Amino acid sequence: MEQTKDNANIIELKHVTKRFEDNGYIAVNDFNLEVKRGEFVTFLGPSGCGKTTTLRMIAGFDIPSEGEILLNGKPITSLPPYERPINTVFQRYALFPHMNIRDNIAFGLKQKKISKDVIDKKVKRMLSLVDLEGFEDRSVSTLSGGQQQRIAIARALVNEPQILLLDEPLGALDLKMRQEMQLELKAMHDRLGITFIYVTHDQEEALTMSDKIVVMSEGQIQQIGTPEDVYNEPKNAFVADFIGESNIFSGIMTGRLKVRFCGGEFECLDDLQEGTHITAVVRPEDVELVAPEKGTIRGVVTSVIFKGMHYEITIQSGKNEIVARSTKTARPGDHVGICLDPDGIHVMVAEDHTNTFLVDINKDYRLEYNGNVLDASLTKLIPGGKRQEDGTVVDASGETIDLGRLHIMASIQPGDIEMTDSEEEGLIHGNISNLIYQGSHYLYIIHTDLEQDFAVYDEDLWNMGDRVGLIMPVEKMTFSIRK
Ligand code: ADP
Ligand code: MG
Repeated sequence: MEQTKDNANIIELKHVTKRFEDNGYIAVNDFNLEVKRGEFVTFLGPSGCGKTTTLRMIAGFDIPSEGEILLNGKPITSLPPYERPINTVFQRYALFPHMNIRDNIAFGLKQKKISKDVIDKKVKRMLSLVDLEGFEDRSVSTLSGGQQQRIAIARALVNEPQILLLDEPLGALDLKMRQEMQLELKAMHDRLGITFIYVTHDQEEALTMSDKIVVMSEGQIQQIGTPEDVYNEPKNAFVADFIGESNIFSGIMTGRLKVRFCGGEFECLDDLQEGTHITAVVRPEDVELVAPEKGTIRGVVTSVIFKGMHYEITIQSGKNEIVARSTKTARPGDHVGICLDPDGIHVMVAEDHTNTFLVDINKDYRLEYNGNVLDASLTKLIPGGKRQEDGTVVDASGETIDLGRLHIMASIQPGDIEMTDSEEEGLIHGNISNLIYQGSHYLYIIHTDLEQDFAVYDEDLWNMGDRVGLIMPVEKMTFSIRK
């Protein structure tokens, strides 16, 4: 392999998309990433967001449907796995139970026809690397889960890969062993100097171990940054919600460095134009509890949980729920004031969650969505439009409207949609694919039967995967014509 500069990218993914042929599912969508030689990069995201699929494409077990993968600047998109200087450690330690530890580690080397002396030396070195000296002749069944996973790591490293891929390697271990192994893996990475690409759904693990975190959701990158970046400067509400604990509120800029949310006006450090709709993120440790008369806003304590190092205190303030972390306790029913320091408030421009969808025009010139006739007049949408006696519609110049060329888009705000669990009600049905608590309400993403995502605000707690109907009043919709 040719030498490249020390700070060069070892791996690059360019517009990588994976669509599974059998069900058409897009597991990874336009993924762009650069990994530097020697970096510890972590893919972090909820189950099903495409982490394993991305890793499998880097390893060569899956081929991208679109896009390119470069290794040291050269395309390897369809190179078979064994021709890549890359090894993978999986969650379930796929050791061979009938072989002893030496043979398990040496498996790859034996296939390369390396001499027994060299193999023995390498195995010894690997065992010392994973802190299991003298384990050569033990059988797999005598090892604990943590020890087995160390052997799996030794087996991957003995091939001297340029890149080690680790897919939730600690997922099957108990908490204490997991924390121990996190530190060991990190130390191993620093010692070996090779590139690690690590997959986890555990944000604490990602924050502890990584140089760079790639936060993913539904096949797409949400943010790439250092642990500090993604924790302190989340790019959107999903990242804020997923990383660490957050209070998330919607609000509005009320002046220079002034923001209003949760029924109070606060000073902040983000200079956005007055009137901008925003999302404010406040970490529980930045919520200061004071006497009621001293707070910018006031509320009542609804719950107190002891967490070992601190108390987690939940406060109801009007419609908003605020979680605080404090070394001092409180009692449910206590009246408290809340203060927020400007640098404890992170302000982001609110994502526009307006739902836009195409509606049909039926043969009676009525608007329809998902087979439901909407009580809206088509003639009003067309400037000067008139209905003729034969039912057709003509525009201002008297020309008959060509239905085939007319596309009507409807849009509706998330707060104007109501969810129902009834199969009879609602214009369309779907399943909840994401939910984020935003202080006074939840933001739900509903993946509908027509494969569209709708955003809905609702005060009630529904569960991921729940099947719901969307009640969308036609008077809350606005229509526009798209040719
Ligand atoms: P993660 O590792 O983040 O949990 P995966 O990459 O395993 O997620 O899967 C992402 C999505 O792709 C999931 O919804 C999964 O069901 C789907 N998927 C994974 N493999 C296949 C496959 N071979 N065929 C069809 N869909 C798949
Ligand atoms: Mg996975």
